[in-house]
Amino acid sequence: MTTLIATKTKPDILRERGQREVFCGLTSIVWLHRRIQDAFFLVVGSRTCAHLIQSAAGVMIFAEPRFATAIIEERDLAGMADANEELDKVVDQLLARRPDIKLLFLVGSCPSEVIKLDLGRAAARLSEQHSPRVRVLNYSGSGIETTFTQGEDGCLSALVEDAPVDQTKAPSLLVCGALADVVEDQMRRLFASLGIDKVDFLPAREADEQPTIGPNTRYLLAQPFLTDTARALEDRGAKRIAAPFPLGVEGTTAWLKAAADTWQISPDVFDAVVELPRARAQRAVAKHRERLSGQSVFFFPDSQLEVPIARFLNTELGMTLLEVGTPYLHQEHLAEELELLPADVTISEGQDVDKQLDRCLAANPDITVCGLGLANPLEAEGLTTKWSIELMFTPLQGYEQAADLAELFSRPLVRKTRLAV
Ligand code: SF4
Repeated sequence: MTTLIATKTKPDILRERGQREVFCGLTSIVWLHRRIQDAFFLVVGSRTCAHLIQSAAGVMIFAEPRFATAIIEERDLAGMADANEELDKVVDQLLARRPDIKLLFLVGSCPSEVIKLDLGRAAARLSEQHSPRVRVLNYSGSGIETTFTQGEDGCLSALVEDAPVDQTKAPSLLVCGALADVVEDQMRRLFASLGIDKVDFLPAREADEQPTIGPNTRYLLAQPFLTDTARALEDRGAKRIAAPFPLGVEGTTAWLKAAADTWQISPDVFDAVVELPRARAQRAVAKHRERLSGQSVFFFPDSQLEVPIARFLNTELGMTLLEVGTPYLHQEHLAEELELLPADVTISEGQDVDKQLDRCLAANPDITVCGLGLANPLEAEGLTTKWSIELMFTPLQGYEQAADLAELFSRPLVRKTRLAV
């Protein structure tokens, strides 16, 4: 049985501020629109933004779409048209045609920021016009200085700012981060078995079910990239429960334990509740450990999931961490994770892509986790790669998904071995 033990010395952090290779926050619409089932995401952007969303979400082409792009034309860019008037017309048409929409997000982009279109004011105006049938919120998915998971952070912080105040005196648990429905259902069952009965998820599945938030809210982050969301929650008086992230068997156990301790649940009850799912997950993960133990991994900065996934690969699968690159390192939210990494691992924050490519090629890892833009050139150099965006499209959190997470890494290595025979 693996048990997480903190290292005594903190790893050194290499900070780089050079050219970066990341997707923008619009990408997160692809998983967010599946999560909030009566929401619509209207990107206010260019044809490039529309192409990005369409290709990222290509698999959804046959479904009734719940995202679109209001194209900013050259006339708008040149200041010849009133972009607000045009936007109001598009929203009116959309809402007239789609009575199923209850929550509309206006998603800002690089072009909307260039022409300084105030989407906050637009959202307030449109919300008033279409209330109470539809709420209109806004956030930025712009790619100028962000990475793709920050789109989710922007969306969730907009929801927090819009959330009603929790008037009750009883403490409530809020799980933050877009999770697959199946993962939410599993977690709800575990919290209920522990005796924690007032549990909400952010975002909720329906617009009308979004949680209330107040000083009695205790929140657990299920994703490591929710900096602005956490800040918005703290502004409302909510308090964070410090924990590692629910990735892997032991990450999930520590995450659940942090909530159980906050609710003063006895260790015996906790052990009894997690015993079976934990043991089942350990057995499932052990099969992958045989294949992955001793293999080396190099992370390029992309999804912001790098640190907790590296911890899982190292502590539960015995993989060697050559470098763990992450776009941003939130020292407070990741404190419990950083303590669990080996003291001699190289952690890098930010990117200078050419230098990092040189380090990666020199290290010659067995598997490299990177964005789509780097995967082909690295494969051409003979390296095996894993697209980091896949980590956002696959349900990974919790006991039942721990082996699936391991499989994402073992599958390309098995394939490589087969091809080499
Ligand atoms: S980087 Fe900017 S212009 Fe490009 S798709 Fe993203 S928001 Fe649109």
